[in-house]
Amino acid sequence: MPFECSQCGECCSHLGLVHQVEVDYGDNRFLIRNQYSGERTNVVIDPDKIALFSDRTIFTTRPEACPFFRFDEAVMKGYCTVHQTRPEICRDYGCWRILILDGTGKRAGRIMCQRHIASEDDHLTRLFSEQVDPLIGLDDDAWDKLVIHVVTAAGFTVRI
Ligand code: SF4
Ligand code: SF4
Repeated sequence: MPFECSQCGECCSHLGLVHQVEVDYGDNRFLIRNQYSGERTNVVIDPDKIALFSDRTIFTTRPEACPFFRFDEAVMKGYCTVHQTRPEICRDYGCWRILILDGTGKRAGRIMCQRHIASEDDHLTRLFSEQVDPLIGLDDDAWDKLVIHVVTAAGFTVRI
């Protein structure tokens, strides 16, 4: 299954350290520069997100947020206000290799990079500390297979 973004906003909440506005052309058009790669991208606020973009309160709670990221607390979803013209690096980004869902289909955890588990689910976290973490000698394929076996046996489902 291809990567599906759940719009939790964790990634974009820190990408103000990377994407910075170099030129404000006015009329909701900007040139942004990637502080690490030097890549420049012309972006335009999506027409349906202009009101959302004008609300800058996000920076009081998430000071490192990308200048174009906004979070709607009512629906608990993050939005890229330049989604249609966002930089290439944002288009290519996927934050997990293996997605782990609980019995209700809700995200319970993500395997990020090679072996990092990101989870707020106590049951899943405990499974990792008790059954996965001790087996550090496995190669990467065997580790993936072990993770899938352990979590599915415990009632979770896995998407890759
Ligand atoms: S890419 Fe991942 S971290 Fe970023 S908003 Fe989507 S699910 Fe969240
Ligand atoms: S441009 Fe959009 S997708 Fe990229 S970091 Fe900013 S808010 Fe996130």
